[in-house]
Amino acid sequence: MPTAESAKKLEFSSQVAGEIRAFSRSLGLDDWDIRVGDPDRFDYDLCEEGYIIRQDDERVATLYVHPEADAWQIERIVVHELLHVVLADLEFIASNGATVETMELYARFQERAISVLVGAITGNTIWQPVEACQKLNHAPGHNLDS
Ligand SMILES: [Zn+2]
Repeated sequence: MPTAESAKKLEFSSQVAGEIRAFSRSLGLDDWDIRVGDPDRFDYDLCEEGYIIRQDDERVATLYVHPEADAWQIERIVVHELLHVVLADLEFIASNGATVETMELYARFQERAISVLVGAITGNTIWQPVEACQKLNHAPGHNLDS
């Protein structure tokens, strides 16, 4: 018998996998192998709701969602991270020869654009962070506030 905790982890990971499956095709990511990051290996130090580790040349990525994300937040976090994959090539071109300042600006506006797109794609425009993660990295316009 699986323990309650391992059953919860399994359910969490299968929801993340389900969201990846649900959105990969419509976001044109069929040529990517996008895997679910092990919740036990989530890097809390980043203080992100989610993050994705890409190997662009291999078209392989591992998507991590904050283990304390609620079911309704998982969809938004997955779509956000998948959009980073969609924009991978653009980011590569933008970074070519760019200064650190330009790349910071690029990253800031990319986050804004992604937030808007996530709202349009999921219909979820109520942005509420994972409670355990207080740094509001992905709030629309967050990076433009002082
Ligand atoms: Zn982001």
